[in-house]
Amino acid sequence: MSFDQAHKIVLLSGFILIFPHILLGQIYDSPAHQKKRIMMIEDQIKSRGVKNLDVLRAMEEVPRHLFVSEDLKHAAYTDGPLPIGHGQTISQPYIVALMTELLEPDSQHVVLEVGTGSGYQAAILSKLAKHVYTIEIIPELGQEAGKRLKQMGYDNISVKIGDGYKGWPEKAPFDRIIITAAPEQIPEKLVEQLKPGGQMILPVGPQWWGQDLIVVEKDKQGEISTKKSIPVRFVPMVHEKE
Ligand code: SAH
Repeated sequence: MSFDQAHKIVLLSGFILIFPHILLGQIYDSPAHQKKRIMMIEDQIKSRGVKNLDVLRAMEEVPRHLFVSEDLKHAAYTDGPLPIGHGQTISQPYIVALMTELLEPDSQHVVLEVGTGSGYQAAILSKLAKHVYTIEIIPELGQEAGKRLKQMGYDNISVKIGDGYKGWPEKAPFDRIIITAAPEQIPEKLVEQLKPGGQMILPVGPQWWGQDLIVVEKDKQGEISTKKSIPVRFVPMVHEKE
């Protein structure tokens, strides 16, 4: 290596060390953001009863501020949902943690998510499962999330643009299914794509109000049972336009 090349490398490394957010903006996590995440977990998540240590660790590891637009980064660790464009939202951190805990994912599971949005929930699940398949109906959101997740190095997430009501038959059956938009009824096609012994979590109810978080269980014989968790408010799960 010539002196000139070595000089350039030293200069570039120095620049990355001093201004990492400029060169690595899309994937840069900072100690200040890590601190905010630890506070988010203490004040919003543990305090409301989420206990699963693997879930808490995933919430600590995934940099939520990289899943929202530049102007909302300062609010990424606050206790609520945030807009992600196209009238959609990234869910409140507590709801993401609660749904993940109720889903009981494990490292051998293949998971289907309906409603990719920003890709945040998929990133959390990817830390806890073998593979995450996620479907988004708004092409721009799905493409952006796919690009973001790839840039950030998540290599066990597949994003597809399409109508989640149809599920992902080529990859079914799934150990776990999570829906992060609210249908008015439990989608039958998705229950069919659940493995015996599997479970699905989703908000169910009319647009914007009166929704409940529901856990659907399919036992080894294929019998279905449902359990109601807490009242929630999600964007609607829409039907594809003909
Ligand atoms: N899980 C997301 C938040 C999702 S918001 C995150 O972590 O950021 C709900 C998402 O569901 C929206 O992006 C919306 O476009 C999508 N959606 C609504 N109906 C859908 C359908 N039928 N199929 C797939 N995605 C759908």
